[in-house]
Amino acid sequence: MIHLPHKNKDHLQQISIWEAETFYAPQDIIIVGAGFTGLWTAFYLKQKYPSKKITIIERGPVPAGASGRNAGFACFGSLTEILSDIDTMGADKALQLLHWRFEGLKTIRQHFNDSAIDYYNTGGYELLNEEAPLEKLNAINSLLYPVTSATETFVLKNDLIEEFGFANTQYLIENRFEGSLHPGKLIGALLQKMSAMDVQVMCGTELKNFEESADDIKLQTTDKRTLQAQQVIFCTNAFSKSLLPHIAVVPARGQVLLTEPIPGLKLKGIFHYDEGFYYFRNLNGRILLGGARNTSIATEYTLDAFTTLPIQQALEDFLSKFILPGQKPAITHRWAGIMAMGQEKTPIVKQLTDRTFCAVKLGGMGVALAPTMGKLLAEMV
Ligand SMILES: Cc1cc2nc3c(=O)[nH]c(=O)nc-3n(C[C@H](O)[C@H](O)[C@H](O)COP(=O)(O)OP(=O)(O)OC[C@H]3O[C@@H](n4cnc5c(N)ncnc54)[C@H](O)[C@@H]3O)c2cc1C
Repeated sequence: MIHLPHKNKDHLQQISIWEAETFYAPQDIIIVGAGFTGLWTAFYLKQKYPSKKITIIERGPVPAGASGRNAGFACFGSLTEILSDIDTMGADKALQLLHWRFEGLKTIRQHFNDSAIDYYNTGGYELLNEEAPLEKLNAINSLLYPVTSATETFVLKNDLIEEFGFANTQYLIENRFEGSLHPGKLIGALLQKMSAMDVQVMCGTELKNFEESADDIKLQTTDKRTLQAQQVIFCTNAFSKSLLPHIAVVPARGQVLLTEPIPGLKLKGIFHYDEGFYYFRNLNGRILLGGARNTSIATEYTLDAFTTLPIQQALEDFLSKFILPGQKPAITHRWAGIMAMGQEKTPIVKQLTDRTFCAVKLGGMGVALAPTMGKLLAEMV
């Protein structure tokens, strides 16, 4: 007797023997999420276990989280942000985080040519309008010595305020260890590495739920496929709650705008303001500006990745007040992405059950943190 699918859409559940023996074959490790964390985790796991079968599943047609939607700052912390982190997390944890980020930036440059990912070692700067943080500058430089091996990570560079054309700015602090990169090109370069290392990446594959047993883990996707693995690693960052309800991760939307090209734009580098709540850079003669989340914190605790008028207006106000006084350039692009936050900034990298692990809550500097978190996680598996 022939059994046919009851409904047309049930054909989605049918897979061929060829698909079953390749793409859907049982895996040693499945990583959920192909953002920077998932990709770096796969990289270190495959280095550690070259013969293990590793697959990354990603719900978007391309990696659809914060990794492809950020500002491309290769940074590890501004003076006011570090001071605030020390207040909320204590000096030891704050220093640990700085160390992880600094190591992460070094790792990126060890594995990829600057030109392949548009890495520019431009230096990072913080605009400042209060004196109190400056009184702690020497203490923070001493704290950072074990991280950067420099006696002065932060240096006052007020002479550049006029050169860069800023208004309403009293102090400018330089950190020569920061720079910028192209997040899309970095994802692309990591995906090429995955292919070279024989790590399978399945885009358009969203995990709906999973069941762990004594023998394996079965994963159900939203298109009704079943995958099977010995171990599963969640690198789902802000989107973790529906899969891992007990993980303390809060989604936080970040919004960005990009201006048209500005003739004669003088500033060079990446810039922070107000504990990192505003950030901007020169992107090929345009201003890429993001942040202002602190002007409407409650509305920005969301998983909806779209821009809103109040935040975009706050960004435009900042643009004309500090960066381009008296100018009103056209805005050519606006976008939003979702970060993962928590009560403090330490990422959650741990084993959850016999067969599951997670590396989530990368916060606002995940470009730098992801390589180190991927490495830490691979050491646990
Ligand atoms: C606007 C903005 C600006 C930022 N600027 C910077 C910056 O300049 N420098 C910096 O260092 N950091 C910045 N960040 C933070 C940085 O982008 C993140 O910390 C980093 O990208 C996190 O990487 P991730 O891989 O952990 O998470 P993500 O990139 O969010 O990856 C998680 C992945 O999991 C996938 N996923 C989720 N659920 C499922 C599921 N059920 N099934 C399959 N796949 C799933 C998602 O589609 C996503 O691709 C910024 C963030 C934003 C939003």
